[in-house]
Amino acid sequence: MESTSEKKLVLQLAREIARDKLAPNAAEIDRSYGFPAEGLRHLAQAGLMGLVVPPPFGGAGADTVSFVGVTEEIARACANTALIYVTHLIACMGILVGGKDGVKKTVLPAMARGEKLGAFAATEAACGANAFALQTTAKRTENGPYHVSGSKVFITSGGQADIYLVAVRTSNAPGPAALSALLVEKGTRGFTTGRKDRRLGINGTSSSELFFDDCQVPAENLLGQEGGYMAVGMPMIGLALLGASAIAVGIAQAALEASIEHAKSRKVNGLPIGGYQGVQFLVSEMSAQVEAARCLLRCAAEARDKGPSPLPLLPFQTKLFCTEMAIDVTNKALQVHGGQGYTQELPVERYFRDARGLTLHFTPSEMLKEMLGKMLLGMFP
Ligand SMILES: Cc1cc2nc3c(=O)[nH]c(=O)nc-3n(C[C@H](O)[C@H](O)[C@H](O)COP(=O)(O)OP(=O)(O)OC[C@H]3O[C@@H](n4cnc5c(N)ncnc54)[C@H](O)[C@@H]3O)c2cc1C
Repeated sequence: MESTSEKKLVLQLAREIARDKLAPNAAEIDRSYGFPAEGLRHLAQAGLMGLVVPPPFGGAGADTVSFVGVTEEIARACANTALIYVTHLIACMGILVGGKDGVKKTVLPAMARGEKLGAFAATEAACGANAFALQTTAKRTENGPYHVSGSKVFITSGGQADIYLVAVRTSNAPGPAALSALLVEKGTRGFTTGRKDRRLGINGTSSSELFFDDCQVPAENLLGQEGGYMAVGMPMIGLALLGASAIAVGIAQAALEASIEHAKSRKVNGLPIGGYQGVQFLVSEMSAQVEAARCLLRCAAEARDKGPSPLPLLPFQTKLFCTEMAIDVTNKALQVHGGQGYTQELPVERYFRDARGLTLHFTPSEMLKEMLGKMLLGMFP
């Protein structure tokens, strides 16, 4: 997908699906802790589930600019669908980078068509955000399969996904050299999912625990080399950081639009509240914040499309800025909406709850700041 007109068409398609198919169900999915399976089917029918997968593997071969644009449109309607979507494409990216030819030829086209949903599983209860300390082990018997034992927490699409990219410990080497990425298929013996998480927001992603009890995984499901988790993970992290940023911009855009509409339509003493300077100030600030974040995001996406950078500051800066921005903007949207906005009758309280999760996932803000600080001070890695 190269031409500007093709990119515009894809964006338009995503906008229409988001508006007509995703937005109408978003509140109910949130309230019922449901899963947007129908919405994902619409994205699959439109060919969007393989957006960044190259055409030889059945995808559209779109660039990062298109990816963030489509993700923003989806998130503007339904943050749950957007997070599942980004997670799926991250898993596709891991397989693309590290998958053996046979796996790539069979698994990727099915994922690109949306017939198989992807997830990735790194977080564990004991290591949390510090993936290098993860405890799930994968031991290989000579010429045999890997035996995986351990558990994961907070996994998006847990139980719903078909293909899980799982971070595992394959040796006792220090640091990341001990870690590898394995693909585990749903239904593999010894692989089960636990209870669904009850959370503040992003409630419709089937976030759950995963358990591996001597789960036997074919050796060809290893992505890259043993100890090669970082080589597989780096391109995934780039996409994850910008995907989270795009979700944040989409949610914030929805909150801004709702606030402008509310400021015009809500009348107090016969006058629209938009007539008050305090409300005007709020929507002005929100609009500047959303636009600044979108520009930064686009700039980071364009930079990614140009190729790897020696010091990848931009994706980290973008994720930090966009996700913190979304919390502030959705908070201001609540203020514009007054008491009505604090009820479940209107979507702004959901926007606020959903935005809140994004500074925790895909590397919490504090870790991003530490990494950025080290990069800027020449201390990384
Ligand atoms: C909406 C959502 C979806 C998610 N989906 C997935 C998924 O699909 N797959 C997956 O693997 N995980 C997923 N996660 C988990 C997510 O990646 C973790 O929540 C995150 O890595 C933080 O881990 P933790 O929650 O255990 O926090 P902890 O590790 O307990 O950290 C708590 C806080 O301590 C601070 N902290 C911890 N370590 C450091 C450090 N080294 N440097 C600086 N500060 C630090 C940070 O402020 C952090 O927020 C999801 C989480 C959320 C909220």
